[in-house]
Amino acid sequence: MELKTEEIPKLTGDRNLRRIAEKVLEDRRLSEEEALYLFESGELTFTGLLAEYLCRKKNGRNAYFIVNRQINPTNVCVYRCSFCAFGVGRKDPRAYELDLEQILRKVEDTYRAGGREVHIVGGVPPHWDYSMYIGIVREIKRRFPDMCIKAWTAVEINHMAKISGKSYREVLEDLKEAGLSAIPGGGAEIFSERVRRIIAPSKASAE
Ligand code: SF4
Repeated sequence: MELKTEEIPKLTGDRNLRRIAEKVLEDRRLSEEEALYLFESGELTFTGLLAEYLCRKKNGRNAYFIVNRQINPTNVCVYRCSFCAFGVGRKDPRAYELDLEQILRKVEDTYRAGGREVHIVGGVPPHWDYSMYIGIVREIKRRFPDMCIKAWTAVEINHMAKISGKSYREVLEDLKEAGLSAIPGGGAEIFSERVRRIIAPSKASAE
């Protein structure tokens, strides 16, 4: 049985949630307090219904996606996170490293196939200097100005700050100036200090 939109507020016995739902259906913006209340209510299905209503209203039954390519320039990594099957030491027979031209060829293939976003993350190689990270971003942007570059996780940003002696802000500003659009997520294990100590003790803490 299909649920009628106007019935959504009646699905909750909580008066505050009902008011919030009515506001959503009236196309009014929620206040910060209301958004927090919704979040803290733990009513995931109810929140999902409201989100679904807004999404359908905006997008109909269309789904949108981008063509994105993941490029991993190297698997050489100074860290040894216990869950990771990717990072290896420099002398490991599985170690590989792409040079700038190889990276650019992958970006070009992506571009020709209609892709307009590259997602670049690697290991954290001990021998790369700061200019390598910046240079990869700059060169991709120079050759493909309309390519969205999402590159380097917070772990790599932390490493760049260490090797350059710059602050996180300065590193991000340098990357942005070179053409970076966004950084990927990942590394969420550091948000729990207990978990980080167990599986990735040498990674930066969330502090
Ligand atoms: S930092 Fe990343 S690549 Fe390196 S070992 Fe940890 S998860 Fe693997």
